[in-house]
Amino acid sequence: LPGLYIVATPIGNLGDLSPRAAAVLSAADVIAVEDSRVTAGLLRHIGIKKPMTPYHDHNAEGVRPGLIARMATQIVALVSDAGTPLISDPGYKLVRDARAAGHLVATIPGPCAAVAALTLAGLPTDRFLFLGFLPPKEKARADAIAEIAGVRATLVMYESGPRLAACLSALAEGLGDRDAAVTREISKRFEEAVTGTLSMLAARYAESPPKGEIAIVVAPPGAAEPASADDADAALADAMTRLT
Ligand code: SAM
Repeated sequence: LPGLYIVATPIGNLGDLSPRAAAVLSAADVIAVEDSRVTAGLLRHIGIKKPMTPYHDHNAEGVRPGLIARMATQIVALVSDAGTPLISDPGYKLVRDARAAGHLVATIPGPCAAVAALTLAGLPTDRFLFLGFLPPKEKARADAIAEIAGVRATLVMYESGPRLAACLSALAEGLGDRDAAVTREISKRFEEAVTGTLSMLAARYAESPPKGEIAIVVAPPGAAEPASADDADAALADAMTRLT
């Protein structure tokens, strides 16, 4: 059926492209892509060639109306370079406008680095907050961290290798020295998850900035934090009643 199809693609291992994703890409009349060279590689892997339209932050306003118009009669697929479109990637306005125009909008779920990182970290998963990329500048990053310091949820974010150590230090400073995990190169040959407290991890990566793609997972406030004075008073009062 004509409409907009949001298609998740691998974040490293091409084997993670789902059969349904491959089928939709094969049926598409046009694929909206971030970088046509990256998507051309994926299409080669499944043995197809398709017309591609670049759709990224710098040209989205200009090309969106044309894509919306095509959805009336054609299958338009949206992919990003890796993972799930719209997650720290372009696309939400395309979905919004496709809906407003009354077109079919379907999603083909699949790999997403944020969720994959969460599954590797060994930290609570019942509530999590995805932060995308924190601001790179020190002051803005500290402000962004202060804003979420009280949130009772596991935090998940993306970061680049060169900025990793500074980001971990800023998190330790703003949140306290919580447990965390640095996940890297998920689904690729050098996949790893390194766990420790934020300050331990900051020290480790300050020595040698890691290569590859990285997602950080940070424990919620609570368990690992030193007990507050109120908690101590309550525990003491409780102990006293049992002594008497
Ligand atoms: N839309 C994508 C998704 O669903 O995961 C995310 C796009 S965002 C622009 C790219 C960032 O995701 C990378 O800089 C890195 O922080 C993270 N990332 C992507 N692939 C990854 C992988 N294989 N392992 C760890 N992190 C990854």
